[in-house]
Amino acid sequence: VKRALGLGLLLTSGCIGAPTPLAPNRSGSVGVPHAGVLTNGVELPVRGKGFVRLRPKSPHYWGNPRMIAAIEAAAARVGDELPGGAPLYIGDISAKGGGQIPGHHSHRTGRDADLLFYAATPSGAPEPSPGFVKFGSDGLAALGADTVYVRLDVERQWRLVKALLEDRDALVEWMFVSRDVEALLIDYARSRGEDPYLVWHAETMLLQPGDSSPHDDHMHLRIACSPEEELAGCEGGGPHWEWLPASPSLGDLGAAALENISRDDPFDVSEPEAAERHAGGDV
Ligand SMILES: [Zn+2]
Repeated sequence: VKRALGLGLLLTSGCIGAPTPLAPNRSGSVGVPHAGVLTNGVELPVRGKGFVRLRPKSPHYWGNPRMIAAIEAAAARVGDELPGGAPLYIGDISAKGGGQIPGHHSHRTGRDADLLFYAATPSGAPEPSPGFVKFGSDGLAALGADTVYVRLDVERQWRLVKALLEDRDALVEWMFVSRDVEALLIDYARSRGEDPYLVWHAETMLLQPGDSSPHDDHMHLRIACSPEEELAGCEGGGPHWEWLPASPSLGDLGAAALENISRDDPFDVSEPEAAERHAGGDV
């Protein structure tokens, strides 16, 4: 317990979430999603294979390198698997140095991204996203005048969810969407005969947040910290799912240190050679 506490103090001493001269080893996604900064971020290009920025000139397209890679890979995969559709429209990620940006509580460490929903005509033909429009339980969204509707492109949206979940480096923490959108996606995945384990994964990570907008007009992707990023100051943002790589702990470091000490100790009987000598009665 003391060791864990010591590590906690080590990571949180000084100003919360900010790299300082006293904490020069902090870098990357530093702090928690709603109180932190970003260093060494990568900017999402204005467009790429299968995606386009909703706001080409916005300065809020900086992210953790894994976040940018995850968006690019997932959008490209959807485009490959279902060619001929509209691109994935990307909303805000983070400012270059992280911190607060207008309209968001989180989005401060490059681990949050707003992904607009794939859209289609009511009869199912893909069409470019109309922006942030609210999709109901029937999968339809009214565009201004209530006689014009757009449909959630459930097929492409599910492929995106699947691609993100199957990306081993992305380390998806949450995909915030409304309950209605989650139900549409999960029903579709089941009807498609997707692997039950994958569907269960998706059900776990698709979530309507209780403390912000219901996310019926976009999907908010949050990625977890990698173990290396945790050592550099990345913190929290959700449960530590059992399928994510284990956090570094001083317990592990201590065991490794002891192992090194014993390797260097010529009198250590745990070394196979030494054990053999003992067994042979040399000493
Ligand atoms: Zn968001």
